[in-house]
Amino acid sequence: MSARLPALFLGHGNPLNALQANPWTRAWSALGAALPRPRAVLSISAHWYVPATAVTAMATPRTIHDFGGFPRELYEVRYPAPGEATLAARVQRLLAPLAVLADQSWGLDHGSWSVLRHVFPQADVPVVQLSIDETRPAAFHHELGVRLRPLRDEGILIVGSGDVVHNLHAYAWGGHPQEPYDWALRFEAAVRARLEAGEHAPLIDYGALGKDALLSVPTPEHYLPLLYVLGASFAGEAVTFPVEGMDGGSVSMLAVRFG
Ligand code: ZN
Repeated sequence: MSARLPALFLGHGNPLNALQANPWTRAWSALGAALPRPRAVLSISAHWYVPATAVTAMATPRTIHDFGGFPRELYEVRYPAPGEATLAARVQRLLAPLAVLADQSWGLDHGSWSVLRHVFPQADVPVVQLSIDETRPAAFHHELGVRLRPLRDEGILIVGSGDVVHNLHAYAWGGHPQEPYDWALRFEAAVRARLEAGEHAPLIDYGALGKDALLSVPTPEHYLPLLYVLGASFAGEAVTFPVEGMDGGSVSMLAVRFG
């Protein structure tokens, strides 16, 4: 029997983090070095946001460069972690009777590999991705997290990859210093406080946080991976924030660790 693994939410931020050594990527590396080695990773990435729940079932997932306008070096990155059909099938069983498609065409998008290449640089831990069904409400995604929780006792590291605050309209793309926006800091602080208090309901109903939420989560896909990780947490479990900071004024790099 495996020791229980943590459940992690990682704020992935700018795709260029894949190539950089900065305080955030160094924190991801340190996190990976200190973790018990998982049998496999189940990654829920903001960048597989489609009208279905699907799980990657191929033996060798390709590295997807799902962005535009970045330096060529970023398109040359490969993250050759294998898939794990056994885990894909286990996810289908845990989520039944929900129909979970066994996908043979996606792979690993940058929500997964831009962080995992720092956490597990050898790419020797198998990775399976689970899509986020864009047609479903927030409570559905939290519930899937609850149903995936048993994986943590089966050697599986559940990783949600998104950003608690993700407003690219306000983001300082030029790389010039940009102080975090007040609304971004307030929303992130509100999320942290509710995570620490173990209050799931207001995190699911995040729109009730008002204008700060509208600005911080203008579209749901980068926030929803947090709800999977929250659902996969155990009652009363310790929560810590191994990575912190705001990039470009409006992208939270906050990482959340349960267990
Ligand atoms: Zn992203």
